[in-house]
Amino acid sequence: MEFGIPHISTGEMLREAGRKQTPLGLAAQSRMDRGELVSDEVVSAIAAERIARPDCARGFILDGFPRTLTQAESLQTLLEEEGIVLDAVISYELPFKEIVARLAGRRTCEKCKAVYHDKERPPKVAGHCDKCGGKLFQREDDRPESISVRLEAYNRSTAPLIEFYQKRGLLVQVEAAGSPDQICETTLRRLETRRAESSYVTVREF
Ligand code: AMP
Repeated sequence: MEFGIPHISTGEMLREAGRKQTPLGLAAQSRMDRGELVSDEVVSAIAAERIARPDCARGFILDGFPRTLTQAESLQTLLEEEGIVLDAVISYELPFKEIVARLAGRRTCEKCKAVYHDKERPPKVAGHCDKCGGKLFQREDDRPESISVRLEAYNRSTAPLIEFYQKRGLLVQVEAAGSPDQICETTLRRLETRRAESSYVTVREF
């Protein structure tokens, strides 16, 4: 929880369900490991359930959802029902080759979920998290065979969302080269500019 609002990652919720071996987790696991998308019905249902919890009343950040036009439409319906307005949709953009290098080198702490990279951001002690000492692991879907399936799924199912949100005036495109801190800073700056511009428009129209 940063910025005082929850970070909702559908991928993390699915992985957690897999670790706990719930029926949902077991059903999703093999698709996730292969790098395929989990069904729209399942993912939209878990996102809807999460957004309805009280800690989302002041806002939330969705990470990795929606990933298809069908999911974007269910999200739209859900938000309209709840009277929630989307502020912005961020698309992080990076050349294909760099995405592959980032995913293939990613290592995650099994305890606190901190993320490292074996070349760009190695931990101080190999294989262990700097923050909590937990063991680092490589996600099954960060292996080369799964990465290419994920990128295909992105091109086929997720890329059309760019136009979907562009048309609605919600898209913020952020170049994702650089360190996590730099990318975070650029994102905040872009969101701030967007907010300033939209309040300017409101004042002028008023
Ligand atoms: P992530 O942690 O966001 O990279 O997601 C990991 C995996 O979880 C994806 O490759 C999919 O298999 C599954 N997943 C997460 N979010 C979604 C979604 N919105 N739609 C379909 N599958 C998803």
